[in-house]
Amino acid sequence: MPSDTHSATPHSATPHAAASNPAALDAADPLRGFRSRFTLPEGVLYLDGNSLGALPAHTPERIARLVRQEWGEGLIRSWNDAGWYDLPRGLGDRIAALVGAAPGQTVVCDSTSVNLFKVLAAARRLRPGRPALVAELGSFPTDLYLTEGVGVDPRDRRLLDRDGWSLDSLADLLADDTAVLLLSHVDYRTGELRDMAAVTELAHRHGALAVWDLCHSVGALPVELDAAEADFAVGCTYKYLNGGPGSPAFLYAAARHHDTAEQPLTGWFGHADPFAFEPGYRPAAGIGRFLTGTPPLLSMVGLQAALDLWDEVDLTALRAKSLGLTSLFLELTAPLGLPSLTPAEPSRRGSQVSLRHPHAYAVMQALIERGVIGDFRAPDVLRFGFTPLYLSHADVHDAATALREVLESGVWREERFAASAGAVT
Ligand SMILES: *Cc1c(COP(=O)(O)O)cnc(C)c1O
Repeated sequence: MPSDTHSATPHSATPHAAASNPAALDAADPLRGFRSRFTLPEGVLYLDGNSLGALPAHTPERIARLVRQEWGEGLIRSWNDAGWYDLPRGLGDRIAALVGAAPGQTVVCDSTSVNLFKVLAAARRLRPGRPALVAELGSFPTDLYLTEGVGVDPRDRRLLDRDGWSLDSLADLLADDTAVLLLSHVDYRTGELRDMAAVTELAHRHGALAVWDLCHSVGALPVELDAAEADFAVGCTYKYLNGGPGSPAFLYAAARHHDTAEQPLTGWFGHADPFAFEPGYRPAAGIGRFLTGTPPLLSMVGLQAALDLWDEVDLTALRAKSLGLTSLFLELTAPLGLPSLTPAEPSRRGSQVSLRHPHAYAVMQALIERGVIGDFRAPDVLRFGFTPLYLSHADVHDAATALREVLESGVWREERFAASAGAVT
């Protein structure tokens, strides 16, 4: 468990000594003050913040204020008085600062899946006469499902290999019939980080638009959407951003597409003049046309509270610590001999480590029983997410020790850890 009272001298740790002295690294960690701003249960070492981020300590109070005052007393007046109406754009601009987007190109709304539907459809309409779409066989399933939902003919859907691909193999799939390239910036299963600028440039060279899924990169590392000339992006806010379970997602559309992009979920929140109650749809100017309906205020303010924290985070320090944590975990677990799906090169790594074990489900259950919460991904992946705001190097050391003990003792073989039918998540 983390401790704020380390006596080791911070700057004497050499890279080699680092592994044996996580306390020294923690003492020198510029982000260590963020840990106390989260509420985490005693006895839990939480390595699943890439699936559901932890609770910022001030979030319950913010949600209570929404309920008691803004709703309970302000009632409908709160749409203006409490700023509810502006939250989709206002929170969008705060997330924009985390993903390298100039203001006015990002909104918070709906779920990642719904936003993917909107941007995939918009991107396809911007490239008429090009039926093809390129995506990844190994992508998070909802991304693939949505390519079906927007009507890409199976014969026009080209999929990158599940076991890895290069710029060359990607170039082989792109052609002058390709409207859209849909990719995850960080692969949810392996933690591999893609070169957004190089990939986007390749897509553009073939006349295709690049749609990026940032679910495992926002809040995990710096993202540069504008600099990479990305066309569209979506992402979750309940993972690394700690917005709370089911908090609304975000959607980015590059300003150059705002006048011409049309998305199919033409609800009144995306109308040019929503309170004119006109019978016909006219899209709002700018990013507002990507909105659809009334925002879920209860979870919007959970995200708002989390962003109060993120406004203070130095993303360069975040990235440095993230790589320090994942490198340390890889180093400490290397002697266990579990094959790693996560790239060894730091520049190709997100903020997670995925190790393979033939009985990964049972091993993870045994770890969870010890309070080390990571997750299992079928068929054989132990996935550990490293969230730099509330994890320390000492936590990483303790997690690696717990994994070693679970494997060496063979405790995972006990009956209670066996996967029952249907229990595989
Ligand atoms: C978590 C995740 C999603 C989830 O989408 P929802 O609509 O929020 O359920 C989508 N894509 C990726 C890559 C994810 O990791």
